[in-house]
Amino acid sequence: MSTVPLLTALHGGPDRPDALRVDGKACGYEELLGAAGAVARRVAGMPAFAVEADASLETVAAVVGGLLAGVPVVPLAPDAGADERAHVLRDSGAELVAVDFAERADVAERTDQAPERPALVLYTSGTTGPPKGVMVSRDAIAADLDALAQAWQWTADDTLVHGLPLFHVHGLVLGVLGALRVGSRLVHTGRPTPAAYAAAGGSLYFGVPTVWHRVARDEAAARALSGARLLVSGSAPLPAPVFTALAGLTGHEPVERYGMTETLITVSARADGPRRPGAVGTPLPGIATRIAESADGIGELQLTGPTLFDGYLGRPEATAASYTEDGWFRTGDIASVEEDGTHRIVGRASTDLIKSGGYRVGAGEVENALLAHPAVREAAVVGAPHTDLGQEIVAYVVADGVSATELTDFVSARLSVHKRPRRVRFLAELPRNAMGKPQKRLLPPM
Ligand code: ATP
Ligand code: MG
Repeated sequence: MSTVPLLTALHGGPDRPDALRVDGKACGYEELLGAAGAVARRVAGMPAFAVEADASLETVAAVVGGLLAGVPVVPLAPDAGADERAHVLRDSGAELVAVDFAERADVAERTDQAPERPALVLYTSGTTGPPKGVMVSRDAIAADLDALAQAWQWTADDTLVHGLPLFHVHGLVLGVLGALRVGSRLVHTGRPTPAAYAAAGGSLYFGVPTVWHRVARDEAAARALSGARLLVSGSAPLPAPVFTALAGLTGHEPVERYGMTETLITVSARADGPRRPGAVGTPLPGIATRIAESADGIGELQLTGPTLFDGYLGRPEATAASYTEDGWFRTGDIASVEEDGTHRIVGRASTDLIKSGGYRVGAGEVENALLAHPAVREAAVVGAPHTDLGQEIVAYVVADGVSATELTDFVSARLSVHKRPRRVRFLAELPRNAMGKPQKRLLPPM
């Protein structure tokens, strides 16, 4: 059971009138604690409550209010369709609560929250199936934020800038609770556009690869980030060509980190360590990793550590199935580890490891080869069923003014024969979810 406050800086750190700026509205810690206190008073005694997690100070107050009261918070995507909303509310049993930021109450943070009551119920991105409610404890959040603060040398002197959704682990746990634990200023830009990032004048920036891809294509915005200290990418693979372009324009090699809702962030490059395109660094302090069933060093990434979830809400069988017999969490991601401990994520076991003609091909390597062509804006590579090969490699591409033959010739110079896509289909855009992750299961048939 937790005995210390989670949001240490919020309770004891120096206050500033603009400690938080969310979509243009600013407030200090005292103001936030007052608004959160009012929420805490209203929700006390509820089994759980849901909030419409748009990018606003109200959302921050609601989440902090839940933490103060020891009542699990379920952030809802504001643009969720009626079905998804009904799914989350029914699944979690949470009551939807509206927040008025002008209300105030004085409430101390409950630190005696029972272990079976999570701090947050976060729904996964729904990349591989319907989103699952992940129970995340205060202790897991605290352990993760402290490890990240150390890895990124993240301090109260930083100004953190991002524009990520506040209903996922990235934008909410790292992007809001992190700032409130470390005591850094937070500027949430509302939307994660290159222009907004460039104008925000931060020292530490968070983004998903689609955001960094847009920044790298906007030279003026990218150059404006040269005054920053650290650019961090996560939630999906950062294509190597984007890493290189960003480093060239900003003067900063991005720090890539890997994690999932169930584990929080577990592997990351360091502020004072090497950064390599296509690599996510080394396990954070307290995290142990292993690669399962590997003859060639490539296999499922499994891990243990203090940042692991408390199970899927209402799905004990799914929780049990996500652990090995000897108690390691199965990430479902395929990875390899280099001699110096640097991890490389090949992709998801379900969609990104293609078994073609006796070879195992990582979709990411083929996607990177396609993205190296200047006309290609997005690429998704999958294995399609094939009678002789088992699977054949096919590519979905968003590009302007290039033919399938030109593209095939281009990648042939970069990839060995068994890795080349045998078919290319052009799309106007890739199907993506709210986190900007390509949803390969929604690609149209070739
Ligand atoms: P669902 O579990 O509902 O299918 P999801 O797995 O996309 O959705 P999240 O928990 O938000 O939901 O995402 C975690 C996944 O994101 C990881 O399992 C991994 O596949 C991917 N991921 C996160 N960071 C990286 C990274 N740096 N490189 C490659 N993949 C990453
Ligand atoms: Mg997942």
